[in-house]
Amino acid sequence: MAQLIDGKQLSNQVLQEVASEVERLKAEHDVEPTLAVVLVGEDPASQVYVRNKVKRAKEAGMGSIEHRLGTETTQGDLNQLIERLNHDPRVHGILVQLPLPSHLDEEEVIAAINPAKDVDGFHPLNVGALAAGQASLVPCTPQGCMIMLRQVHPDLSGKHAVVVGRSNIVGKPMAALLLQANCTVTIAHSRTQDIESLCRNADIVVAAAGRRELVDADWIKPGATVIDVGINAIEVEGKRKLVGDVAFEAVAEKAGAITPVPGGVGPMTIACLLLNTTRAARHQLA
Ligand code: NDP
Repeated sequence: MAQLIDGKQLSNQVLQEVASEVERLKAEHDVEPTLAVVLVGEDPASQVYVRNKVKRAKEAGMGSIEHRLGTETTQGDLNQLIERLNHDPRVHGILVQLPLPSHLDEEEVIAAINPAKDVDGFHPLNVGALAAGQASLVPCTPQGCMIMLRQVHPDLSGKHAVVVGRSNIVGKPMAALLLQANCTVTIAHSRTQDIESLCRNADIVVAAAGRRELVDADWIKPGATVIDVGINAIEVEGKRKLVGDVAFEAVAEKAGAITPVPGGVGPMTIACLLLNTTRAARHQLA
């Protein structure tokens, strides 16, 4: 049976580090690291995510400001709010919860955020910095995946990693971080041919396709490390349940290490968001 990489436990460690850094920033610089969260519309999943982020920020001793805007919010209104937050010295991190209602342009909104406050790491300047291997605000989910991988592989050098998914928020930054850690990286997506045999050759598989239990045991090399980013809601006997992109039970029999869903990558993502906020606050001091 594979070693379980416990995201809850690991995220608590990261959150403790965040809380200590918050204390230091308050004591040494009289700065309370503060995250502004912007939610537009009524998407139920987004409301849960925002609630969790604000709750965790408070638990870590950070400041948090919530802006809940109606679905009818215009691009101009949203841009104006971001501009205000960009210039507000009390705000160190800005997070606009995605997805936005379809009449709003996500790219325009992301580009409007001050890159120094872009704690999601989605601004083109931060994306470019990551691609160039420069220190920047790194997207939270891949950052969390790297911390989990380091639990099993303190040295990732030379490992063959397959990332299933090429989105801007998970797949591409994940591949960039693995490359920076000297892995040999393959990025697979919906047009990839014979994805199973690519994965079977991998020491590390990161599944981020948003397809329920796509990765099965016969995709996995014995002893490989499997990171499951996927979050898929299903109904079992009338009850809502979350499953990942990996067929957990079967793959856990074959893999060397695996992350669960829930309790894996999800809690690490929030912890890394708060880590980014303290980093942004410290950077803004300079
Ligand atoms: P996207 O839908 O933006 O991207 C999915 C990617 O997977 C695309 O690149 C797509 O390929 C690829 N893909 C889809 N189907 C297949 C397939 N059958 N075989 C191979 N590749 C496929 O999703 P996200 O990256 O935003 O999210 C991925 C998953 O991770 C979702 O379940 C999401 O809920 C979850 N997630 C979890 C987070 C967490 O904190 N745990 C945070 C963010 C996301 P193509 O480009 O060709 O269309």
